[in-house]
Amino acid sequence: MPKKKKEDIDLSGIDSTEKENLKKILLATREEDDVKSENILRPMCFEDFLGQEKAKENLSIFISAAKSRKEALDHIFLVSPPGLGKTTLAGVVAHEMNVPIKYTSAPVLEKPKDLAGILANLEDKSIFFVDEIHRLKPQLEEMLYIAMEDFKIDWVLGAGTTARTVRLPLPHFTLIGATTKAGKVSSPLYTRFGITVRMEYYPHNEIELIIKRSARILGVSFTEDAVKKLSFCARGTPRIANRLIRRIRDFADVRGVNVIDVNLIEEAMKRLEIDKNGLEAQDIRILKNIIEIYGGGPVGAETLAISVGESVQTLEDFYEPYLIQCGFLNRTPRGRVVTDRAYELLNIKKDFYENQGTLF
Ligand code: ADP
Repeated sequence: MPKKKKEDIDLSGIDSTEKENLKKILLATREEDDVKSENILRPMCFEDFLGQEKAKENLSIFISAAKSRKEALDHIFLVSPPGLGKTTLAGVVAHEMNVPIKYTSAPVLEKPKDLAGILANLEDKSIFFVDEIHRLKPQLEEMLYIAMEDFKIDWVLGAGTTARTVRLPLPHFTLIGATTKAGKVSSPLYTRFGITVRMEYYPHNEIELIIKRSARILGVSFTEDAVKKLSFCARGTPRIANRLIRRIRDFADVRGVNVIDVNLIEEAMKRLEIDKNGLEAQDIRILKNIIEIYGGGPVGAETLAISVGESVQTLEDFYEPYLIQCGFLNRTPRGRVVTDRAYELLNIKKDFYENQGTLF
């Protein structure tokens, strides 16, 4: 979820002392607090990793089998929208395998030597986690093919006419490649993963469990109804659930409330401009733009991103998947199209803008 800027926070309707307190809490401590508590809240083992039962069951079987054979686990491909637990799950797998894990992200790996350096230093059976694997450079991707399949890398020694390639052995490692965009991973790379885990948005009952666990760790009390209410606002995403708990805790601290109830959740969601479906102001802006400017669509991602002042990546990775999941938006080969549910949500008559076509 993109961070709110100072001027985005609506503090109208509360007195000035309270306003200052609130601003201080909401803004000054937000970033470092968020990073710190994201780490505190990160589950370490399967027992704490809530929901995603099918993925966990399958992985447990593969882990037990690999452990009993004393072998490295097969390479794992993790796919989900952001914040659903790919990085966390990789750590859990390492913990359950009782092996070290090395984390990196594809955009950080610039040159073959960056990747070769990491691969050569991995421990036997350890986990190598590469986030955003769809952004790996082609040259590095080719290096990974041999590394994943034969546990070797080709390395060029010398230069010009004296250059020669040597094949260096690597430890047997497990690559966990994570992506939000499975379609952007080339098929030679994809087919080298033995296990694929696709994580979907969490249903409300699983988000409730995650809220309860995080609240317990952070020492925040919620009524049952408040947990239920909040679970609908978290976009089926643990990272957002945790972030909302921290923001609501801020409101509770300022108000001097010990047990968070539905009323406080409603007030906080109103101030944070999050509706009962978990939609933010920007989600609504996206749907409205498609209807009002592009007659309901189709409109291309780039045009839409410009018209709502968002990057294409954030539009595609963060906003669209949830709007599609909720049934408000469709992706078609010709572009994005809103559904009848979006018209109902916004209370706009379908034919009102439909025949106007595009303005640009
Ligand atoms: P991703 O890598 O998919 O973007 P992360 O693994 O970083 O997501 O997860 C974001 C946060 O959400 C983590 O810090 C963790 O606290 C929480 N989280 C993710 N999945 C779960 C889960 N299944 N149960 C409890 N908390 C979770």
